[in-house]
Amino acid sequence: MSQYDYDLFVIGAGSGGVRAARMASAEGIRVGIGEGRRIGGTCVLRGCVPKKLLVYASHYHHDFEDAAGYGWRSRVPSHDWATLIAKKNEETDRLNGVYISLLKNANVSMHEGYCSFIDANTLKVGEKTITAERILIASGAAPFVPNIPGAEHGITSDEALDLMSMPDRIVIVGGGYIAVEFAGIFAGLGADVTLMVRSSVLREFESEVSDELTEAMKAEGINVVVGESPTAVKPVDGGYVLTTDAGNEITTDLVMFATGRDPNSKGMGLEEVGVKLGKKGMVVVDQFSKTTVDNVYAIGDVTDRMALTPVAIHEAMCLVDTLYKDKPRSPDYEFVPTAIFSQPPIGTVGLDEVTARERYGDIDVYASRFRPMKHTLTGRQTFSFMKLLVDPKTDKVLGCHMLGDDAPEIVQGLGIALKCGATKADFDATIGIHPTAAEEFVTMRQKREPVKQAAE
Ligand code: NDP
Repeated sequence: MSQYDYDLFVIGAGSGGVRAARMASAEGIRVGIGEGRRIGGTCVLRGCVPKKLLVYASHYHHDFEDAAGYGWRSRVPSHDWATLIAKKNEETDRLNGVYISLLKNANVSMHEGYCSFIDANTLKVGEKTITAERILIASGAAPFVPNIPGAEHGITSDEALDLMSMPDRIVIVGGGYIAVEFAGIFAGLGADVTLMVRSSVLREFESEVSDELTEAMKAEGINVVVGESPTAVKPVDGGYVLTTDAGNEITTDLVMFATGRDPNSKGMGLEEVGVKLGKKGMVVVDQFSKTTVDNVYAIGDVTDRMALTPVAIHEAMCLVDTLYKDKPRSPDYEFVPTAIFSQPPIGTVGLDEVTARERYGDIDVYASRFRPMKHTLTGRQTFSFMKLLVDPKTDKVLGCHMLGDDAPEIVQGLGIALKCGATKADFDATIGIHPTAAEEFVTMRQKREPVKQAAE
C-alpha cells in the first residue's frame, strides 16, 4: 500500500486535467483531482464553448440580412440578450454535469477547493491536506488586465459571457484571438464596437490574413483603432471615458480587456517547493511535461507552450503514456491547426510567410482572393482569402491559411494533409469539390510575388 493518499493528484479540472485524470485512472492507479471553481474549466465554461455559441448567435444578423438577396421578405428581428445568456448557461451547466459524470465513471475522486503545495508530495486542497506520489499542475490561465488607473471598471471575457444586458457601445482593448472574436460577436448583435489594438490585429498570424480581417471588420462597421493603448478608464454618467496614449478620449458603455492571459501559478507555493517559473509565471517543463521537481508535472495553459485546448489534451495523453503506459511520448507541436472565430473566421496550419522565408529561404507563394459564391446574390461586400506556402526544394506545403466562411472546418482537413507531408503536387492532383470555396486550395496554379512585409 502506497504511503500517499493518491498515486496522482491533478490540480485543475479543465480540459487537460480531466483528460489526464481519466486516462491515468484507466491504468488502475488511484487518482484525485482538485478544482477551485467548477468542473470543466475555461474552454467548457468560460472560453471556447460559450464563445462559439455567442458567435453563432451573432451570425444570424447577417443571415437575416442576406436572406433578402434570395427572395426572403422579412426584417431583421430584434435580439434578446437575456434569452441567449440563459440558453448558453443551460448548455454550460449540462457540460459541467457531463464532466462530473466522466470523472465519476472513471473513478477519479473530486475535491473542491483551491490547491497549494505544502511540500512536493503534499497539497492543501481547500481545508483538506492531501498527499500524492505524483502531482500534475493543470491550473490553466486567467485574463490579464493592464495596470492602468480605472482598469477595475473594465470587464474581461469571463464577464463578457455573463453580462446582464448587451451594451450599445463597447471598447475592446487588444488585437488577439479573444479581442477579434468578441468584436465580431458584439458587432453582430448590434453594438457599436471600437477595437483598440496597440500594434496590429493578430500580430503573430499570417500578415495578409490579419490585414484582410482588419479590412473585413472595418467594412462591418467596427471602429478599428491601431497604434493606441488605453491609459485610463474613468466612470462618467451612464458609462466610461477611456483615454489613450495618443491623447484621445472615447466615451463608451463598457470597456473589455482582451489583453492576453496569465498562468494560474500564483499563490500555489510552487517556487517554494522548487518548481521553476518562467516568463509571466509560466511553469517551466521539459519535453515530457516534467517540472524542475521530479514528481511534479504540468500541462496546458499554465506552461509556456501552445495555449489551445486540443494541445492541452494532447499533452495529457502523452504524459499518461509516459508515466503509466511505459511509452514515453513528448507532445508534437508541428502543424497544429488553429482557428479564430472572427467574422469572417480564420483557419490556419503551418508557417506564416515571414517565418517560412526565415527558415527555408525562397519559398513559393500561392494566394487567392475571391468573392464567395453565396454573396453574388446577397450583395454583401465580403471576400475570402487563401494562401499556400511551398518549399520549392521539396515541394512540401509549409503553411495553409484561410479567411472566409467555413475556414476552420476546411483547414482541419488540410491539417491532416500537412501532417502527412503533403506536397503541392499532391494538392494539385486532388480533384476539387465543385462549387465550394475549399476547391480553391487544390486549383491554385499561379505563383505569386512575396508580400511586401515578407520581402523586407
Ligand atoms: P493574445 O495573446 O492572443 O492577444 C493579446 C492582445 O492584447 C494582443 O493584441 C496584445 O498586443 C494586446 N495587449 C497585451 N497587453 C496590452 C496592453 N497592456 N495594452 C494594450 N494591448 C495589449 O491573447 P488573448 O487574450 O486574445 O488570447 C489568449 C490565448 O487564448 C491565446 O493565446 C489563444 O491561444 C487562446 N485562445 C484561443 C482561441 C481559439 O483557439 N479560437 C480563442 C480564444 C483564445 P500585441 O500584439 O502588441 O502584444
